[in-house]
Amino acid sequence: MMSAIGFTLVGFALMEFAGWFIHKYLMHGPLWGIHKTHHQHTEGPFEWNDLFSLLFGSVAVLLIFLGVAEFDYRFWLGIGISLYGMSYFFLHDMLIHRRVKWFKRPKKGYLAGIFKAHQAHHATNKRDGSVSFGLFVVPKRYFKRSE
Ligand SMILES: [Zn+2]
Ligand SMILES: [Zn+2]
Repeated sequence: MMSAIGFTLVGFALMEFAGWFIHKYLMHGPLWGIHKTHHQHTEGPFEWNDLFSLLFGSVAVLLIFLGVAEFDYRFWLGIGISLYGMSYFFLHDMLIHRRVKWFKRPKKGYLAGIFKAHQAHHATNKRDGSVSFGLFVVPKRYFKRSE
């Protein structure tokens, strides 16, 4: 039971770190051609950038599939990655970018902080010079009220 929760948390945390790393060094690097569809306005409901979500989702499905027979660490890592993906979709796509307009902009607390941090990331539509590449873990300054 403990290892189930442990590996789920590890999967979740790993995604924030891997996501930050991939976003900073690959998406704003050699894979900018794909990621720029998220920074520059594109027509229609989908962006090429959504391929990254699909890729992470496939990794999660694969791990769950490999680990389901014994409910081993792979299963729980896959669950952690899936939970991350769902939270990411909820916060990044629904709350911050409002791809579906069900929620209003958060005004205070933790959500307002990560909202500001991600807006700072979108301050530029260029490959270079962007800041704040993580989603859940962002610098403290975004949580100050004055900004
Ligand atoms: Zn970006
Ligand atoms: Zn964004």
